[in-house]
Amino acid sequence: PSGARVPALVIGSGYGGSVAALRLAQAGVDVHLIEMGMAWDTPGSDGKIFANTTQPDYRSFWLRTRTKQPLSQFLGFPLDKDVPRYTGILDAEDFAGITVYQGRGLGGGSLVNGGMAVTPRRELFPSLLPTVDPAEMYATYYPRANAGLGVTEVDQTWWENADCYQYARVGRKHAQRSGFPFVFVPNVYDWDYMKQEAAGAVPKSALEGEVIYGNNHGKKSLQKTYLARAAATGRVAVSPLHRVTTVTPASDGGYTVTIERIDTTGTTVETKTVTADRVFFAAGSVGTSKLLTRLRATGALPALNDRVGKNWGDNGNVMCGRANHMWDPTGKLQSSMPTAGIDNWDAGGAFAEVAPLPTGIETYASFYLSITRTPHRAEFSWNAAAGRVDLSWDRAWKQTSIDAAKTIFDKINAKEGTIYRTDLFGAYKIWGDHLTYHPLGGAVLGEATDNYGRLHGYDGLYVIDGALIPGSTSVNPFVTITALAERNIEKIIATDL
Ligand code: FAD
Repeated sequence: PSGARVPALVIGSGYGGSVAALRLAQAGVDVHLIEMGMAWDTPGSDGKIFANTTQPDYRSFWLRTRTKQPLSQFLGFPLDKDVPRYTGILDAEDFAGITVYQGRGLGGGSLVNGGMAVTPRRELFPSLLPTVDPAEMYATYYPRANAGLGVTEVDQTWWENADCYQYARVGRKHAQRSGFPFVFVPNVYDWDYMKQEAAGAVPKSALEGEVIYGNNHGKKSLQKTYLARAAATGRVAVSPLHRVTTVTPASDGGYTVTIERIDTTGTTVETKTVTADRVFFAAGSVGTSKLLTRLRATGALPALNDRVGKNWGDNGNVMCGRANHMWDPTGKLQSSMPTAGIDNWDAGGAFAEVAPLPTGIETYASFYLSITRTPHRAEFSWNAAAGRVDLSWDRAWKQTSIDAAKTIFDKINAKEGTIYRTDLFGAYKIWGDHLTYHPLGGAVLGEATDNYGRLHGYDGLYVIDGALIPGSTSVNPFVTITALAERNIEKIIATDL
């Protein structure tokens, strides 16, 4: 309620926010968790909570009137279509040089992501988070995060014969024939459920291709893990469809937080203020960076330092497809949950997820999301004239990532006698270089904050999400975001409360 005073307010319910909410509550602190997206707990008119990947509808996009699908075309046909404006689950947030895809709702990115739960190779860790002790991360916080998220390995014996992983086996064959290390990666999907899907015993989810607009079964999103445990403490109050707009010091200590309640068209229907002793920014790399950049520039939090908004990267994301020969079909049934990658990080600066293309038809395509080593970092700035936060990303910077990905796929194409697909991103484009799924940085650990996420300039303000990580995790990021949040919240609970 408006006017209330709360000990801890958490902005955003993705990985960082869910870890903060659970651990604070377990430590006896009452938490108010604010999430601008929906609760995603109520079925739509078709009886399902989430829409299918191949049939986006009003539930699929955050406040858009036309879909903006990551794969904009298929076989030359444009895929996007008009939809009613609605607080849907996937935000395709446009900046000048890049579209940043993010999850919206209770659970943040865990609602829309592929569930691929990868711990970076330990020898790479010092280059990712130079001020964090790798020994404690690998002994304590990565294991804690993996356990909390319900991360498990696919049963490889089953995988070898499952129709739905033919695409991954083709990916393995091609990687290995070109001499690249092929690695299995864990996932948060419930593999027993997937086996039952394959056997026709339960409603299908991964095997129905569900992923970027949500999974109706099987995937252990944060709703089923951290957030369920947080709710069970009885100390976490959750407000979906509430958006934090301002945080500023209160006259009697703590912070005054302004919150707009929105309806499903995104219209503000009520504005509330609460006072919080501590505020945790967990609105995601982009959400946290945008808030802090604006609050510093507009005088609400003027003492934030000049590192706020800086050191943002795209985790080197670039997508591509390869056209296989007719004797190498990838299967019309493709599990939407990836299980494997091609690791050419050391030699070529690229780690490629062997990704599904769950269209429901045989495409003869192999599809990959590459995570690459790239030096490019952008910054957020307040555009007072337009009243918005801009990001200085330059589309041309993706060439570094394309070059890195080509160290894998040029070689595979040469070996297999195959070519790139040119029908996935429009206008004969080979590379999906307009987007990222993995925004990272903007309020970086040890720069905008101290070494545990305490924002410089203000006692009681913290960053605890992907904004802390300077632009790269060398693999898919959510396990690292979760592990870092576990490390930081443990320190904060021990020393600040
Ligand atoms: P988020 O999960 O983004 O959570 C932030 C939350 O804050 C959101 O729910 C948002 O709605 C809310 N919020 C923002 N602003 C406000 C505000 N002002 N007020 C209130 N609430 C606010 N990573 C992997 O590791 N493996 C994968 O397989 C994978 N696949 C992906 C597939 C897709 C399509 C996408 C989009 C991402 C994928 N990712 C994957 C990335 C992963 O989901 C993100 O890195 C992760 O969710 C980031 O966690 P976070 O806690 O930083 O923020």
